[in-house]
Amino acid sequence: VTAYDFAATRLFVEEPLGTGMRLEQRGDRANFLLNVLRLRDGAELLVFNGRDGEWRVRLAETTRKTTVLVVERQERAQAAGPDIDYCFAPLKHARLDYMVQKAVEMGAARLRPVITRRTQATRVNLARMRANAVEAAEQCGILAVPEIVAETSLDTLLAAWEADRLLVVCDEDAPAGDAASVLASLPAGRTSERLALLVGPEGGFDPAERARLLAHPAVLRLSLGPRILRADTAAVAGLTLLQAFLGDWKTPATA
Ligand code: SAM
Repeated sequence: VTAYDFAATRLFVEEPLGTGMRLEQRGDRANFLLNVLRLRDGAELLVFNGRDGEWRVRLAETTRKTTVLVVERQERAQAAGPDIDYCFAPLKHARLDYMVQKAVEMGAARLRPVITRRTQATRVNLARMRANAVEAAEQCGILAVPEIVAETSLDTLLAAWEADRLLVVCDEDAPAGDAASVLASLPAGRTSERLALLVGPEGGFDPAERARLLAHPAVLRLSLGPRILRADTAAVAGLTLLQAFLGDWKTPATA
């Protein structure tokens, strides 16, 4: 197998992908290829659409404002990443952009904005979140763009919770235990391939929310250490622990 070419430019496309297909590029996308990346006929890049795997394509028939991506060969078959929902109280603009990109790089399969009582941002720009998710997916080498779910209230989220999905709640009020051992020593009945992480707003969970969370059967309370982390820091710290102990950072079990 050829070593994976991480250096190649990767683009997310909506079209189906197969050998010989021609993806006509015009407008912003053509401008990006021709004037930002300054690619010309013969240049190669990788494209993926979340369904057909990753394909190598080559520019052809380039004009001043258009080009064609000719699909040559499949580099990687479509494969699913870890089944992780990243649930979070949305932050304002730049911090939310950052948080979305980090959640994608850390392997979240779904992003679920959750409106809690102290959430700062009441309106969530789902299109902006998706644009950030596409950019992060292109950069970090994954084969699908994580799903951006429309925001819900915390109560709605919990009421519809899938019984077999472990919900790890990053709780700044949790006794500073050994975060690693909490995740490493889950009783058999609690481990699951279906995971989720919840990070609260900059103002934290209110006592009534915390009580509802801790009473929920799918919830596992997790401390992220003795310091108070900003919500976007907690996102990376929480997803790191999840991936390291329960997700795809674990060395695959030897057969
Ligand atoms: N208002 C809270 C306070 O000052 O105590 C801080 C909330 S913190 C800025 C935002 C979110 O990050 C929290 O709701 C929690 O989900 C997570 N978080 C931050 N520090 C944490 C810690 N030490 N342990 C667990 N979760 C933490």
